[in-house]
Amino acid sequence: MCVFCEIVNGNIPSTKVYEDEKMLAFKDLNPVAPVHFLCVPKEHIENANAITAENSELVAHIFSKIPEIASSQGIDSYRIINNCGTDAGQTVMHLHFHVIGGTKLGEKLI
Ligand code: 5GP
Ligand code: ZN
Repeated sequence: MCVFCEIVNGNIPSTKVYEDEKMLAFKDLNPVAPVHFLCVPKEHIENANAITAENSELVAHIFSKIPEIASSQGIDSYRIINNCGTDAGQTVMHLHFHVIGGTKLGEKLI
């Protein structure tokens, strides 16, 4: 089972910032900005290449929740990042969206 599935199942602890039946948002272990949380579907989807017409509702759901989660963390300006595949820097093979903010962000993506 992948690390984020273990987090979803509660086998690995995390600092949750939002949870519902479809998704979990939790603070990144190695934040790159004052606010840095990850949004994941509870269902294991490997990465953006595995998004289909059948499961894309989960992605839409995550994006529909990001504004209120960000607001709960005190920000209304942020960067959403998805790394798809090893060459793009994906290290955990479970679809996740980084939400980063709380400071003036530079041109570097992450
Ligand atoms: P990626 O490089 O795949 O886009 O991002 C993976 C992110 O997951 C990294 O920013 C890393 O810090 C975070 N991460 C990896 N393992 C854990 C963990 O066990 N707990 C938490 N909270 N974050 C993790
Ligand atoms: Zn997983």
